[in-house]
Amino acid sequence: ERTKLKRLKANRAATIDGVEVSLQANIELARDVPGVKEVYADGVGLFRTEFLFMNRDTLPTEEEQYEAYRAVATGMGGKPVTIRTLDIGADKNLSSGGPRLETNPALGLRAIRYCLAEPQMFLVQLRALLRASLHGKIRILIPMLAHAHEVDASLAALEVAKSQLRAEKIKFDEAIPIGGMIEIPAAALALGIFIKRLDFLSIGTNDLIQYTLAIDRTDAAVSHLYDPLHPAILRLIALTIQTGAKAGIPVSVCGEMAGDKQFTRLLLGMGLHQFSMHPSQILEVKQEILRSNSAELAIKVAKILKLDEPDKIREAVDRL
Ligand code: PEP
Ligand code: MG
Repeated sequence: ERTKLKRLKANRAATIDGVEVSLQANIELARDVPGVKEVYADGVGLFRTEFLFMNRDTLPTEEEQYEAYRAVATGMGGKPVTIRTLDIGADKNLSSGGPRLETNPALGLRAIRYCLAEPQMFLVQLRALLRASLHGKIRILIPMLAHAHEVDASLAALEVAKSQLRAEKIKFDEAIPIGGMIEIPAAALALGIFIKRLDFLSIGTNDLIQYTLAIDRTDAAVSHLYDPLHPAILRLIALTIQTGAKAGIPVSVCGEMAGDKQFTRLLLGMGLHQFSMHPSQILEVKQEILRSNSAELAIKVAKILKLDEPDKIREAVDRL
């Protein structure tokens, strides 16, 4: 089975009815790049930059970040590399930030909220990303957006970083795309805010499930309630994919659901054409795609989205 999968490496991921699908990789460090190339991924769909910041006493400098982002951009050749700005807080903590006592850290000062509260730190990361953008096809991804003013403040911070670099005569990709994670239910239900302001969207199913079902994703006592097939979750994902398609804005899924082959056909049937996952899952997901007919799946999935009963949903998804 492994050798059979390996043979799929060089094949393009396309459905039987000719729909091309982009299969990208999630990474945490520049040294993950060889593993990404090993499976011929179409790009890096999510570079979680937290790992550059964690388990150390000081923040990484602009130079250090620049080197890491440049290494990934260069390593991936001309392929797209989507780098997420710092998603710190909740399950991912900074040792350099000092202790913060929070009752509900997942609902607290994390991700873009944290970055907007620490503008100098955010600016350093944006400058490093812009400088690295000269060496490949970098896209910037902002996590945990809910409010229009958060997008506006992020874009304003990017403008500050750009004008500083221009004044210093440092070159960067002037057209660098900027996107947002859709991982808070409010964002999925108010997509117009994000479509109007951003170049692309990426659905973070891990947090979308946590926030929609009010289940702490790190709490084992409620892990049995963490259900990707809950009808509310399926409808939010489908809504995001379909609203994005109508608006002509690319949508990917980069949460765990994208790399779980039991959900590949479901997501294809919702109209998803861009998946990002751990590199070790890419070939299995590709195999599912090569066996799928997206037009047939679309009809079946439209029916699944109308179901309310969990058993019926599970059964229908297994039969896809
Ligand atoms: C997600 O929330 O689905 C996601 C991709 O981000 P993370 O798991 O890093 O929060
Ligand atoms: Mg997330």
